[in-house]
Amino acid sequence: MRAEILSVGTELLLGQIVDTNAAYLARVLSDLGISVYRRVTVGDNMERLLAALRSALDSADVVITIGGLGPTMDDITRDGLALAFEDTLQFDEEIADGLRAFFLKRNMPVLESNLRQAMVPTDGRAIANPNGTAPGLLFEKNGKAGIALPGPPNEFIPMVDNHVVPYLRQRTGNIGTIRSKVLRIAGVGESLVEEIVKDLMLDSNPSVAPYAKVGEVHLRVTAKADTAEQADALIEERAALIYARLGTAIYAEGDDPIERAVVKLLTERGETVATAESCTGGLLSQRITDIAGSSAVFMGGGIVYSNAAKSDLAHVPTEMIEAHGAVSPQVAQALAEGIRNRFGTTYGVGITGIAGPEGGTAQKPVGLVYLAVAYPGGCEVDEAYYIGGRGTVRYRASQTALNMLRLRALSS
Ligand code: AMP
Ligand code: MG
Repeated sequence: MRAEILSVGTELLLGQIVDTNAAYLARVLSDLGISVYRRVTVGDNMERLLAALRSALDSADVVITIGGLGPTMDDITRDGLALAFEDTLQFDEEIADGLRAFFLKRNMPVLESNLRQAMVPTDGRAIANPNGTAPGLLFEKNGKAGIALPGPPNEFIPMVDNHVVPYLRQRTGNIGTIRSKVLRIAGVGESLVEEIVKDLMLDSNPSVAPYAKVGEVHLRVTAKADTAEQADALIEERAALIYARLGTAIYAEGDDPIERAVVKLLTERGETVATAESCTGGLLSQRITDIAGSSAVFMGGGIVYSNAAKSDLAHVPTEMIEAHGAVSPQVAQALAEGIRNRFGTTYGVGITGIAGPEGGTAQKPVGLVYLAVAYPGGCEVDEAYYIGGRGTVRYRASQTALNMLRLRALSS
């Protein structure tokens, strides 16, 4: 079965709101094993809506529209679908009563325009919307279905879950399911990840696709099968192959960010960390402490922005800063070791760099960051050149620090 998602609303085309409903629906349809070959957005314009509806009905079995069911002039989806399905709309007394009661309860007048929401297709039916005034609509003709849902996500999502899913399930019979898993990778760039899994990307079931994020890469593994169990088994087999190739570069699965992986790992190992951050200004400690339970592993740290703070808080010798500069591998190491000693932790992290946009030189350009992780028996120092604006440089630095910490914990 093929479906098409048609979002209706000029605000979507103007970029004023993001189409979160379509993204949600696309995930639901894929879980149902329904193929979505196209997603279309049109403004609040009858001619273009109708053209999009007709084109959708040419190729898809079901078209699901989002938005445009409100009471105002620009809400045209109801009429558009009636035209595309060559159906008429009828006034539904029961729905009208519900609307009147709704407005009465809120001491609001019932306008003629509000009652437009009581118009339902003659050959179809309304879909209950307990969270709003506009019911959804179902049109059916010649084996094709049109489902219209309102735009507000708090109305849309429950209607998808409670009405659209059961309807489509029953309509499709058992056509299987599409399942996905995301493997999250740090410390390996997108091109290299692609190189490593290139052969797997040629297969279509399971399929493997890389997505570049800031400071990490995600690999999505997707499988289609009759049952969720079978799909998951296909995914697991493929994931095992990817784990064998990428190993510890995969830091987590699903939605877990790297800071969660780090907190989890240190908690399991009963280890602790302290941080001395210059150019990241506390971003690293914020990301760690964003994780509930981080108090078990994060002891504290310092924002060592000035040279004086580097010396006072992390005991970096003034002479070292004078000799090598604040942005140097020596100072990064001294920060990591100094903060580790000061807090008596398993690990100490030091970060010093030039986030920009000013302050770069030929020898030390914007984006140059030294990162260090001190551990029992040593200290690892890394030199990184990040591209991007100030925010990106700082974020990437915190990302590298988290990954260095993670790999260090894993290897000791
Ligand atoms: P409508 O049903 O077109 O009157 O839309 C009502 C409101 O729902 C809009 O003002 C948006 O805030 C929201 N909305 C409409 N379409 C979407 C969509 N595709 N994704 C997320 N929110 C939406
Ligand atoms: Mg609208």
